[in-house]
Amino acid sequence: MNIKNMNTTNVKAFGAAAADVDLTQMIIQRREVTATDVEIDILYCGVCHSDLHTARNDWGGSIYPAVPGHEIVGRVTKVGSAVKKFKAGDLAAVGCLVDSCRTCDSCKKDLEQYCLNGFTGTYNGKDKHLNTHTFGGYSEKVIVDEHFVLKVPANLNLEATAPLLCAGITTWSPLKHWKVGKGSKVAVVGLGGLGHMAIKLAKGLGAHVTLFSRTKSKEKDALDLGADAVIISTDENEMVSVKGKFDLIIDTVPYVHDVNPYVTTLNISGTLVLVGYLGGLEPILNTVPMILGRKSVAGSVIGGIAETQEMLDFCGKHNIVSEIELIKMQDINKAYERMLKSDVRYRFVIDMASLKG
Ligand code: NAP
Ligand code: ZN
Repeated sequence: MNIKNMNTTNVKAFGAAAADVDLTQMIIQRREVTATDVEIDILYCGVCHSDLHTARNDWGGSIYPAVPGHEIVGRVTKVGSAVKKFKAGDLAAVGCLVDSCRTCDSCKKDLEQYCLNGFTGTYNGKDKHLNTHTFGGYSEKVIVDEHFVLKVPANLNLEATAPLLCAGITTWSPLKHWKVGKGSKVAVVGLGGLGHMAIKLAKGLGAHVTLFSRTKSKEKDALDLGADAVIISTDENEMVSVKGKFDLIIDTVPYVHDVNPYVTTLNISGTLVLVGYLGGLEPILNTVPMILGRKSVAGSVIGGIAETQEMLDFCGKHNIVSEIELIKMQDINKAYERMLKSDVRYRFVIDMASLKG
């Protein structure tokens, strides 16, 4: 590794050496703690579908070795001399962002996720301190500038809080941007990690929430999570029954799929916001219902740091956490296979003690 003039320490991690191999244990290097840095001993890390996309190079551009993980909660072990918000012993969290330029228009508006100079992702980003790429939370510890470190509400179960750092904020940000509140009619496509958080958060904001799922098997869970209704997206009659109904649809499906049937379920001026699939749509988007109903198809990526703190505080106040299955680090490859079969209810979270032990 090409390290700039900086001391580093070896840290145990779990990552992929290439796109077509399992994740295995490896050693990575973390930078020394600078004046504005916080060192965090990672206790739990959620498993996002983006981790799998990155490990397997689904999007192209993955850099190896790839150490995924951007739903991090842990305990502060050390802080730099200029750090104000944290001290050793505090709980702390890190999401999908560990750096941005902090000077562009987006950063000045607390929209670091849209940094005009490109944000630094928690993994697979360009590390500005070490001349390498960033490594994520499937590791013993992480060192992050305090601006990108979040406070964890003390009342929340820690392991179930980890997924809020990506699944939570990714669904919170569009709910807030499109001003969801009491009386809003929201639909969520796909009941996975993002989908189940979207239901909980939209419900917490007072919306009427409908889930679109491919099969009936998750119907009871969706209702238990707070959904008011479930529509089986493969059933044409059910789809027709919700024509023109929704103000906002959050589509979390990770792979290419037909969004046209969902657009017809939007109300006049409604928006379908894609947060899952990245790439060209197939079949192509039909503009007719959009033009005739002033409907939008939009996209959204994670959320800014202030907005992430706002979401965490909201979850603290309303006692909202993720539904999780705690796994050992060594079981991550099996977990990825189960995630591909939508066999996760509803987020895997890694107990990092299994890596350290
Ligand atoms: P997940 O837990 O695997 O959930 C995805 C859900 O989508 C599944 O549970 C399933 O729900 C549905 N689904 C899966 N494959 C499908 C297919 N081929 N056709 C239709 N529906 C399908 O994944 P996740 O962690 O929630 O992530 C979802 C996507 O969001 C991923 O692509 C991830 O990379 C992306 N993501 C984006 C952002 C962002 O900032 N925009 C942030 C985080 C993640 P049903 O069984 O109910 O149909
Ligand atoms: Zn994620």
